[in-house]
Amino acid sequence: MLVGIRERLNDIKANLPERVKLIAVSKTKPVEDIKAAHLAGQKVFGENRVEELVVKCPVLPADIEWHMIGNLQSKKVKKIAPFIALIHSVDSQKLLQVINNEATKNDRIINVLLQFHIAQEDTKSGLSLDEAVQILDSQTFKAFKNIKVVGVMGMATYTDETEQVRSEFRSLKSIFDRLKSSFFNNDPEFKEISMGMSGDYKIAIEEGSTMVRVGSSIFGSRL
Ligand SMILES: *Cc1c(COP(=O)(O)O)cnc(C)c1O
Repeated sequence: MLVGIRERLNDIKANLPERVKLIAVSKTKPVEDIKAAHLAGQKVFGENRVEELVVKCPVLPADIEWHMIGNLQSKKVKKIAPFIALIHSVDSQKLLQVINNEATKNDRIINVLLQFHIAQEDTKSGLSLDEAVQILDSQTFKAFKNIKVVGVMGMATYTDETEQVRSEFRSLKSIFDRLKSSFFNNDPEFKEISMGMSGDYKIAIEEGSTMVRVGSSIFGSRL
């Protein structure tokens, strides 16, 4: 089992272009599995629940970079604000406000991605381009000093129709390009496109992903 994690990680990493960062999604998996991946050289892990993050983080190596990839409630931000490296799932001005406040209290700058709704399913949350433009244009946003928007995130529809998945990833890339030229033109740190999971990360990479969030292909299925 543990050997399996190392081998699967190495297989995936061998096929990733250098510009693409692998986020090992360890949600629901025990700390032993994370330790095995860490021993195999993986330093970046993604979780989707605050409760799980705050239990796992203190008992695992301090050089792990933790990413929050799931829906985040404002009232829980303070629990992860001291240590979180990147929040992928920011989809409202209110959440930005709370993250900025908590980052300020912790005397740090928290990196975030804006999550966009690119899938056909309405269960997947995220902003529209118009909503993001409104936020980025607002004086409130411009006053946030402890938050850094470093890119965008999205999830494609869960389907075998690869052309649909590809066109959804393409729409996220085009959202990224438009935000880059309108708001972040002189900002080299705005460069991340978080897209691609176990089933579709190869397509995502072809469409310009810089971060893939891969869980079951590394750790096995989650039942
Ligand atoms: C669970 C999850 C993933 C990883 O999914 P796999 O199909 O197991 O690779 C990626 N992104 C988000 C937001 C997730 O919740």
